[in-house]
Amino acid sequence: MKKKILIIALAIILVGGIIASAILIPKMEYAKDSGDTEELFRQNVALVGYENTIENAVPQTELYNIIKTHFDSPLADGKTEKKAIIIGYDGCRADVLTEMVDGKSAVDTLLDDGASINLAYCGGVNYPAPNTQDTSTAPGWCSILTGVWASEHGITANGITKSLEYKTLLTTLVEENKIDSSSFITKWKGHFDRNNATYNEEKDYCEENNLNVSFNRLKNDEASHEYTLNEVSKKDCADFIFVIYEPTDSTGHNYGFTINNPRYKEAFNTADQYGFETINAIKQRATYDTEDWLIIITSDHGGIGTDHGGASIQERMTFIITNKEFDYE
Ligand SMILES: [Zn+2]
Repeated sequence: MKKKILIIALAIILVGGIIASAILIPKMEYAKDSGDTEELFRQNVALVGYENTIENAVPQTELYNIIKTHFDSPLADGKTEKKAIIIGYDGCRADVLTEMVDGKSAVDTLLDDGASINLAYCGGVNYPAPNTQDTSTAPGWCSILTGVWASEHGITANGITKSLEYKTLLTTLVEENKIDSSSFITKWKGHFDRNNATYNEEKDYCEENNLNVSFNRLKNDEASHEYTLNEVSKKDCADFIFVIYEPTDSTGHNYGFTINNPRYKEAFNTADQYGFETINAIKQRATYDTEDWLIIITSDHGGIGTDHGGASIQERMTFIITNKEFDYE
């Protein structure tokens, strides 16, 4: 009897070990990738076809000006309403755009329509200077939405609640009556759905002042995508939509942010397909021809190993793709 128990115990340990290694080995394979060099990164970035160079990368804060200018400028003939959307690919590196899939890529679709594509940087200052704020989610998106760096908005890292001194465009555009409504769509709790989340005060402010700014925290990326498709298909959809698709970030943290990692490339394809379907849904709007849409695809930071936050070129470089003329000197 004892022998039988021993055999069963050994069998459980053996099977458990096989299952654990089946889960852990692929996880660990690219957790540290010695092949993810700066040289390879620069080679792949050169293949994407960016209009600028790493040395002349655009600060991600410039997106604020691009969006503000869009809503401030007069309507063109035949247009009756301005709209804008940021389609964010969280944690998407600038080199992985070499992996666009024809017919399923938002980036490719915008480029076919004549969009501009530029390298951008996060972290407060361009590579190779030491970053002045974490190359992370909260500082990245907050710099994009407020147009200033953490030296002003104070979000140097995740887990800090922003004061109302610098409000995001989601709020100020509505408050200044430039638009009727805006919508923030994400699965990450750290933006406005837990203690010390970045936009807790701003969300409260919008609610207290009855501003038409909706903060939507969805359970996962599929749900964020479904929510976004539904939103852009509404007759009177939000005038400014900010959606973040996060497969690249989750996959990078789990399996490694590196272009050598097939899972990371696949995650980019997933995000880029969500973006593709979102843009198609926008183009199918009954009123699309009379609307003036600014469409932006960008990321908040890159990554290296299974993390980000630091100073490396892989974490620092992001990108800005817009369907409008883009001049930055
Ligand atoms: Zn992020």
